[in-house]
Amino acid sequence: MPSSDDIRIEVLIRRPPRADGRYILYWMNATRRLSWNFALQRALSWARKLDRPLLVVETLPCDHPHANLRHHAFALDGMADNARYMADHPATYYPFVEDQPGQNIELIAALAKHACVVLCDLRPLRESLGETEQLAGRLSGRLERVDSNGILPLLAADREFTTAYSLRRFLQRHLLPHLLNMPLPEPLAEHTLPPCPAVPSAIRKRWPAADRQLLTEDRSRLHNLPIGQNTPAVPTKGGSEAARKALDLFLREHLDLYVAHRNQPQRDVTSGLSPYLRWGHISSHEIVQRLLDREGWHPSDLGLETRGQRSGWWGVGADAEAFLDQLVTWRELGHLFCFKRHDYDRMESLPAWAQTTLQDHMQDPRPYLYSLEEFQAGRTHDPLWNAAQMQLVREGRLHNYLRMLWGKKILQWSPTPELALATMIELNDRFALDGCDPNSYSGIGWVLGRFDRAWGPQRPVFGKIRYMSSRNTARKVAVDKYIARYTPCS
Ligand SMILES: Cc1cc2nc3c(=O)[nH]c(=O)nc-3n(C[C@H](O)[C@H](O)[C@H](O)COP(=O)(O)OP(=O)(O)OC[C@H]3O[C@@H](n4cnc5c(N)ncnc54)[C@H](O)[C@@H]3O)c2cc1C
Repeated sequence: MPSSDDIRIEVLIRRPPRADGRYILYWMNATRRLSWNFALQRALSWARKLDRPLLVVETLPCDHPHANLRHHAFALDGMADNARYMADHPATYYPFVEDQPGQNIELIAALAKHACVVLCDLRPLRESLGETEQLAGRLSGRLERVDSNGILPLLAADREFTTAYSLRRFLQRHLLPHLLNMPLPEPLAEHTLPPCPAVPSAIRKRWPAADRQLLTEDRSRLHNLPIGQNTPAVPTKGGSEAARKALDLFLREHLDLYVAHRNQPQRDVTSGLSPYLRWGHISSHEIVQRLLDREGWHPSDLGLETRGQRSGWWGVGADAEAFLDQLVTWRELGHLFCFKRHDYDRMESLPAWAQTTLQDHMQDPRPYLYSLEEFQAGRTHDPLWNAAQMQLVREGRLHNYLRMLWGKKILQWSPTPELALATMIELNDRFALDGCDPNSYSGIGWVLGRFDRAWGPQRPVFGKIRYMSSRNTARKVAVDKYIARYTPCS
């Protein structure tokens, strides 16, 4: 068996590799990158051990929730980067864009007939887990699912964490061995493999690879796909190259301002990396490693105290500590929650106190009530909220501080908490480039009390749920220019 960090590998079908198989098949269905990728690394170690070539198939489904022009364009940028990279590396890359639901599974199942081993990615969301389980039902050979999600492997957590504090304590005790076990930055550079396999012509004919035109130049064919056509692409470019540029910029110009200005939408010193993390175009391992290198970090810098303190444990500067708390603690809190709780996007997954207090305040008067259409068009009485919504619609992003306010007001101005939850999911996942991520449901859940504590005094509609107001936000954050910039069209 090739050596690997086994806690990241789930063997979904436990069979020996097929002796007469022609290649190792890696179905890249979430970790959409060729660097810092444990699944690719595992596939390569099988290829080397069995002396077989490697076939990497990246698929883009059309039936995932909120598949639309915006998300497809971002994902295709990533596929274009991967195709370019693979052109001079020793493996075959086959990008496939579904035009009918279910084709992905059909394609992988057909290719698997000639594979020694099949590998795929672990993404802790229902549709993704369901997809790999569906595939498992179609295969008879060995199938492995590999976790490249975060620094802490998802299977390394022994329980569900309900606060950032409790996860921080756990990480402070258990993270070090995983921090020292980073994936290879460029696994393909270090391998010699047998010549690349050709994809059988019958398969190419039935499920043709996305051509260069679709990947890079002409996206007009996306209009023929059964995906959301009313959410246009935005200028932000996807892919590993753009992700790395964003990381370079952040480390060079913004990290040193992170503590001072991260809550200022107008300064916008945050990394902007969430869409790239969402689409698997960059790895949190790479981000952490680059940051730690910049800080001149050594493992002996880690603090000995493991009491869940927010700052000081990593042993780096205050800005880097604050950023790592977001990237590791908060991001992985969401991933772990979704992995452990398949009802992550439903009211039942909220803490009991939050469900109770929301129920207790169900009948409270609500002076402002808006429909999904009014929210979507930014037609509320609150100019700051409308501007935030317009930024989401036009640019596919929303600064974290405003995102919190955005969610809190949807709760306040919806007839029920259930409808508020549905509205937040619909707008966030449809318009945000980083939507449909485990952190979408932790952010939205946070609005409704998840990972938070009860607050007083109780307020109408919110009860003990933390309250935020536009007036207070306007005092803390310079919002005038922001409102002017994102005024809704009348
Ligand atoms: C209502 C609501 C909805 C949200 N929806 C999403 C979403 O769809 N996708 C998404 O990735 N995040 C979501 N978040 C969390 C947060 O707003 C974004 O992760 C953050 O704004 C991304 O910007 P950035 O990459 O510049 O963050 P930075 O400040 O540069 O942080 C670096 C990384 O840390 C992680 N991170 C930062 N803040 C948080 C947070 N509060 N919770 C979890 N992880 C965090 C992200 O992976 C982020 O890319 C949501 C928050 C709220 C309140």
